[in-house]
Amino acid sequence: MTMRAIAAVFEKLFTPFTVADVEIDSPGPGEALVQIVATGVCHTDAITRDGDLPFPPPGVLGHEGAGIVAALGDGVSTVAVGDKVVIGWPWCGQCRNCLEGQPRYCLSLGQLVAGGSRPDGSAALRRADGSPLHSHFFGQSSFATYCLCAASSLVPVAADAPVETLRPLACGIGTGAGAVLNRPPTRWACGVHAR
Ligand SMILES: [Zn+2]
Ligand SMILES: [Zn+2]
Repeated sequence: MTMRAIAAVFEKLFTPFTVADVEIDSPGPGEALVQIVATGVCHTDAITRDGDLPFPPPGVLGHEGAGIVAALGDGVSTVAVGDKVVIGWPWCGQCRNCLEGQPRYCLSLGQLVAGGSRPDGSAALRRADGSPLHSHFFGQSSFATYCLCAASSLVPVAADAPVETLRPLACGIGTGAGAVLNRPPTRWACGVHAR
C-alpha cells in the first residue's frame, strides 16, 4: 500500500531540487510513517547534492526531520501514532558497536546513511508515474511531507513540545553537543600530555 506525499527531489548533481508529488510506502514491520512538521537544511544535504556523499540521485535528501507519527508497522512499541518525534540517525542494532551502546558508530552506517534504500535494498519512494526514487537518506529522506523510517530511529518528545523547532536536534545540535559532552581525551587537546 502507498500514500501520496510532496517532496523536494534531488534530480541530479549540482542542480536545484524540484518539488514533486511522490508515492511513499506504508510502514512495514518495524517501520514508522512520520508526517514531517519541520526539517532543517544541513550542510551535509548541500554537499550530497554536490556529490561529496555517494547517495544516488534521483532521490530525496533531508536528515533533520521532526514531526508526528502517522502510522506504524507491526512490532513497534517504542512510539505510538500521534507522538511528536525527532528523527534520529539510523542504526542496525546488531553490529559490535550498536550492541555496545554506540549506535552513532554503527558499522552499517555508510549504507544506512547514503545507500539510497532500506538495508534490504528496497526504496520507499516513487514518482507519481511509478518511476523509482532513492529514499532513506540518513534513514529518513525528510525533505518531504511524509517520510518512512525505522521506528528505532525515532526519539519521542513531550506532547507539548514545539516540534517545529526541534529538528536541529537530529543533526546540528546533536553534533555540537556530542563534541562537548563526549570531549576528546586531554592528551588530544593539549600537547603537554601527549604521552
Ligand atoms: Zn550497527
Ligand atoms: Zn547534518
